[in-house]
Amino acid sequence: MENPGTVFTQISDFLDYLGSDFSSVISKLSKDGLDLSPKFPFLCSRHFANQIKNSSNPEALLREVLPLTVERKNIPGFVDDPVGDLPAGKSDCVIQKYDRRALIVSTATCGVRCRFCFRKNYPFQNIPDVASEVSNWLDTHSDVWEVILSGGDPLTLSPGAFRDLVESIAAHPSVTTLRIHTRLPVMRPDLVIQHFELLRELPTRFNCVLVSHVNHADELDEDSAALFAHLKICGWTLLNQSVLLKGINDSPDKLTTLCRKLFEQGVLPYYLHQLDHANGVAHFEVPDERARELIAEIRTKLPGYLVPKLVREIAGEKSKTPV
Ligand SMILES: *Cc1c(COP(=O)(O)O)cnc(C)c1O
Ligand code: SF4
Repeated sequence: MENPGTVFTQISDFLDYLGSDFSSVISKLSKDGLDLSPKFPFLCSRHFANQIKNSSNPEALLREVLPLTVERKNIPGFVDDPVGDLPAGKSDCVIQKYDRRALIVSTATCGVRCRFCFRKNYPFQNIPDVASEVSNWLDTHSDVWEVILSGGDPLTLSPGAFRDLVESIAAHPSVTTLRIHTRLPVMRPDLVIQHFELLRELPTRFNCVLVSHVNHADELDEDSAALFAHLKICGWTLLNQSVLLKGINDSPDKLTTLCRKLFEQGVLPYYLHQLDHANGVAHFEVPDERARELIAEIRTKLPGYLVPKLVREIAGEKSKTPV
């Protein structure tokens, strides 16, 4: 049973928790109107609410989670399945777009609901037994060598369900690399800790890659530092992907600070994604030209290994596409 204090599902509880210090930034943000009953529901962890409280730039972090009525606008080109997940679906939970690598939609659950989410309109199936479905699929796809656990957030699975899923993959020696995409190190570090026994032993069975999803330096703290340090000692390769988001990280300073802080915590920047055009996210868009300028500028401020690749996902393509 979830401790009721761990997450906020009601915007009013979340705003009460932030308190009156935040009323001016919230009224600034909600000029367009707060959406108290958004189609993509509100969810924010207490942990992230505390990050907002501690941030020198709370507006940026608030934009990530606070539903605004602009999300309801229909904008041409913004669609329900912007990255072609549905045509690439191989079963209810396997998506394969790229050669010999497959992605598992492990769960519909996340530790937060990001307003810019590219899967905000994804028709998640209720899959009673993901582990056996994945296992059956891998039985007939022995050319697949990398399995990516995504979702939703795979680390929101219960420790038992997560172990079953990983065991079902480990039973296929053709899979040599296990990759986890997760936002929980900065949203629900408490849930990551639940999986630690298994996370510790996984690098003895696979090449293990964890791709965190962090967009702003203020999402990182001592909790994420401790988790990453521990995973690194156990043999995980730690990478990060961010989405370039207007009003959140679209400045050279913000990106430079993010990349440096990730590295301080042992994580290398991997991708900076141009926004996927899901319905309801258009207000986060940064034009390509500006995105290229930002990358060119941070390249002059960072060592090459800390400059993320600027990419976009184009439905039907055989890889992410450099911008
Ligand atoms: C993004 C994605 C991957 C991973 O691509 P990389 O370029 O290896 O990070 C794999 N499968 C699917 C379906 C994806 O959307
Ligand atoms: S954690 Fe990822 S999948 Fe979940 S709401 Fe955020 S962007 Fe979407």
